[in-house]
Amino acid sequence: MANYQDYMLFDKLPHTWCAGCGHGIILQAIAGALAQQELDKHDVALVSGIGCFGRVDDYLDLNCMHVTHGRALPAATGIALANPNLKVLVTMGDGDSTTIGGNHLIHCARRNVNLTAVIANNYNYGQTGGQYSATTPSGSITSTSVYGHIEPGFDICSLAAAAGASFVGRSTPYNPVQIRNLIQQGMQTEGFALIEILDTCPTHYGRLNKFGDAGHMLEKVHKMTVPVERAEKMTAEELEGLFLTGVLVNKPREDYYTRYQKIIDRLCTEENA
Ligand code: SF4
Repeated sequence: MANYQDYMLFDKLPHTWCAGCGHGIILQAIAGALAQQELDKHDVALVSGIGCFGRVDDYLDLNCMHVTHGRALPAATGIALANPNLKVLVTMGDGDSTTIGGNHLIHCARRNVNLTAVIANNYNYGQTGGQYSATTPSGSITSTSVYGHIEPGFDICSLAAAAGASFVGRSTPYNPVQIRNLIQQGMQTEGFALIEILDTCPTHYGRLNKFGDAGHMLEKVHKMTVPVERAEKMTAEELEGLFLTGVLVNKPREDYYTRYQKIIDRLCTEENA
């Protein structure tokens, strides 16, 4: 039986993330999801973007590609179309996936490319000094919104759902087992799957917004969420300001490669007729 350790590169540790950063929990959940599926490492490709979370590929014993900022999804789309037998994972932060690369996210979901995007959303650009991103909540303090952010933040899961993703799920590092299970479910769903993890950046976002130390920030992020099953029994007023966690969309539909291949097959048949 496979173990998460089988997919890790322990000789690359210690990692470069700050003490208390949520990224390490997500890293282990990714490795755990691969182990749960007993996947052969050679059948998995991981594409990572730029940013603190982008470094997740340094610690995984997989075929990995580290690409330019915001372009992880186009690179992963190429891999998924060139070799449809691969399980393609894409690891990005909120800056990478929704700010610089937001357009790619929308169209990847719309096209339903067969890959699984794992997004660590910590509401800021951690690696470059804590600047605001497209998910930074209104009123928050960041290094580029010192008097309070005036823009509303994206809801990544709603965006993916509206654009047509087959599978959408959300969790937090408070619940690593849920992250692992969501990634596994996403990887087993045909088409575009997106797992958002409401992550913790105690060094920048947490410090500037007075979330307390890493442990308190983890707890506060957890308290901002409610399981989707419980939310069904709550009023709109009770749900105000809360993020739903769990499986938010599970509507598999034919993926981009399969549709493309059908056209190729039809044209070949017509040509030979
Ligand atoms: S800056 Fe923030 S996101 Fe980056 S490693 Fe440190 S705590 Fe994590």
